[in-house]
Amino acid sequence: MQLHWHRRDLRASDNRGLATAADAGGVVPVFVFDDGVLAHAGAARVRFMLDALARLREWYRERGSDLVVARGDPAEEIPRLAAEYDAERVVWNQDYSGLARTRDAAVRRALDDAGVARESVHDAIHHEPGSITTNAGDPYSVYTYFWKKWRDREKADPYPAPGADSLADVTSEDLPAIDELGFKEPTADVSEAGTEAARERLSTFCEDAIYRYAEDRDYPERDATSRLSTDLKWGTIGVREAYEATEEAAENADGDEAESVEEFQSQLAWREFYAHVLYFNPEVVTENYKSYEHGIEWRDDDDALAAWKAGETGYPIVDAGMRQLREEAYMHNRMRMLVASFLTKDLLLDWREGYAHFREHLADHDTANDNGGWQWAASTGTDAQPYFRVFNPTTQGERYDPDATYIKEYVPELRDASADEIHDWPELSPTERESAAPDYYEPIVDHAERREMAISMFEDARGDD
Ligand code: FAD
Repeated sequence: MQLHWHRRDLRASDNRGLATAADAGGVVPVFVFDDGVLAHAGAARVRFMLDALARLREWYRERGSDLVVARGDPAEEIPRLAAEYDAERVVWNQDYSGLARTRDAAVRRALDDAGVARESVHDAIHHEPGSITTNAGDPYSVYTYFWKKWRDREKADPYPAPGADSLADVTSEDLPAIDELGFKEPTADVSEAGTEAARERLSTFCEDAIYRYAEDRDYPERDATSRLSTDLKWGTIGVREAYEATEEAAENADGDEAESVEEFQSQLAWREFYAHVLYFNPEVVTENYKSYEHGIEWRDDDDALAAWKAGETGYPIVDAGMRQLREEAYMHNRMRMLVASFLTKDLLLDWREGYAHFREHLADHDTANDNGGWQWAASTGTDAQPYFRVFNPTTQGERYDPDATYIKEYVPELRDASADEIHDWPELSPTERESAAPDYYEPIVDHAERREMAISMFEDARGDD
C-alpha cells in the first residue's frame, strides 16, 4: 500500500504526487485536518476546502475507493494512518511556506522513526525554487528577468489521473461539518469548488476572455479575468493542465490576441515568482522584505482600520473593493492594489493589518501571493511599487470604472448618484454629498495631505535629509 497525502492538491488529475504513488499501485488517499493550519484560516477558505474535498471524495468513491480523513497533528496522524493501512511509503506534493516546511520536516522525521519510506515531489508550480536563478545562481528579486527565463523554460505535460485499479479498496467516515472545525458558515458567496468547476472556469476563459485579457484585465466590471485563483490555491486544477489550455489558446492567436495570452501566462509566472520569494525568504510573512535605514512609523488608528475593513472610508472605489471582498471572499486585482495602497499610504497603517484581514476573508488567500501583493503595495517588497508612487483613488476610479458600474454594484448607497458625483465625492461640499447620496460616508482622510505624509514617512525611514 501507498499513502498519498493530499494537502493543497485537492484533485486527482494532473497531480504529480498522486501519479507517483499510483505507479506502485494500492494507493490510499488521505487528508488531515491540521489544527495548526486551521488556526490561520477563514470561514470562506474552509468552505471552499470542504466542498473541494467532498468533490474529490466522490471521485474516489466512483472508483471503488475513498478519501480517508483524519484530524490532528500530521506528524502523528500520517504515521498512524501508514501503520493502519500497512503502507510502505507516503507520497506528497511539496508546499513552500515556512510553516508547511516545518510541519513536513516533522512528518518526515516521524516516518523515518516508524521505518516508513516517504517521497515528496514538486507539483504546485512549474519550476521549483532554485531552478530559475540569476547566472550567479541567486534567486531573482526582479520579476522581469525571472519571467523571461520562466517563459522560455520547457513545461511538463499534465499527469494522468490514477486508474481505478491502482486505488486501494478503502472506506472512510463523512467529512466534518464546518462548525466542527470551529468556523461559522461564511456570509460571503464562495465560488463553486472542485475540478469540474475549475475546468469550466478555465475553458470558458480560454474560449474568449483570454484574447482580450491584456486590454480588459484592469477593469473590474468587465468579467475579464479567469477567477482561477482559488482553484490554484487549493489545487483543484493542476498548473500543467491550466498552462496547456493557454498554449492551446495561443495556437489560435496572433498579434494582440497572442500578446494577451502571454500576458495571462505572465500572471501565472508572478504566482511562481512569489512562491520562490517565500521559499528563500520565509520571514517575509511577518517582516518587510526590503529593509529601510529606520523602522517605518506606521500609524495606530483603530477607527480608520475598522472603516477600511467595513468599506466605509468615503472613497467609493476603495469601499467597493472592500465590500466585494466581504460579499464574494474575492477581490479584483486592480482593487486589491488600490485598497492596499489606500491602507498603507492614505491611512498610513501597517501592511500586516491588511494582510491579516485578507488572510481571514479571501477564499484564494495564498501566503506567497498575498504577502507578495501586500509588500508590493506597501513598497516594502521585492520589485515593489516605489514608495513615492501613491495611487490616487479618484483618478483610479475615473480610469478603471468610468461609469461607476462596479462601484454601484457593491455600494448601494451610491446607486442614485451620477458617475461624476461618485468620482468627485471627496471634493463635493457637504450639501452636495447630502443631496447626491445621503446615506454614504464622508471621506475619512484628505488624499493629497496623506500622500505627502506617506512620502515623508518613507523618507524618514530611508534616513533622507
Ligand atoms: P487572473 O488575472 O485570471 O490571473 C490568473 C492567475 O495568476 C491567478 O489566479 C493567480 O494565481 C495568478 N496571479 C495573478 N496576478 C497575480 C499576482 N499579482 N501575484 C501572484 N499571482 C497572481 N492572489 C492570490 O492567488 N492569493 C492571494 O491571497 C492574493 N492576495 C493579493 C493581495 C494583494 C494586496 C494584491 C495586490 C494581490 C493579491 N493577489 C493574490 C494577486 C491577484 O490579485 C489575484 O491572484 C487575482 O486577482 C485573482 O483573480 P484571477 O484568478 O481572476 O486572476
